[in-house]
Amino acid sequence: MGKRGRPRLPDEERKKRKAKRYREWAQRHKEQVNLYIKRYNERLRLSVLKVYGRPNPKCSCCGESELKFLVIDHIQGKGNIHRRSVVGKGGGYQFYRWIKNNNYPSGFQVLCHNCNMAKALYGICPHEEKRKKEAN
Ligand SMILES: [Zn+2]
Ligand SMILES: [Zn+2]
Repeated sequence: MGKRGRPRLPDEERKKRKAKRYREWAQRHKEQVNLYIKRYNERLRLSVLKVYGRPNPKCSCCGESELKFLVIDHIQGKGNIHRRSVVGKGGGYQFYRWIKNNNYPSGFQVLCHNCNMAKALYGICPHEEKRKKEAN
């Protein structure tokens, strides 16, 4: 006892070893880890949607309220450029994390996938186009 004990490793080294052990564990439990990450990301996504779509998130264009269809849209457009500038090439979830970490900045809204895609592809959602025509 005592004398034979290994000398305490510096924190840095201990952290490195811990991270390595975790990586090895994660390698052996890939499915479990992926599922966990997926659930965590989904919770994060829903919590962000709920902040922008209080109290019940729905598409601000067509009113779709199925949460699985909803996304956060950059109101001014250019969402992809902004997204890339804040999270690099990483996928959508990093974007949701960025929003949360930045205290839910303004300039975003809730849209459904359809309206969001249409806006990105055509610059305007056909719903919106129709509304404009009807208004004239
Ligand atoms: Zn919609
Ligand atoms: Zn629409």
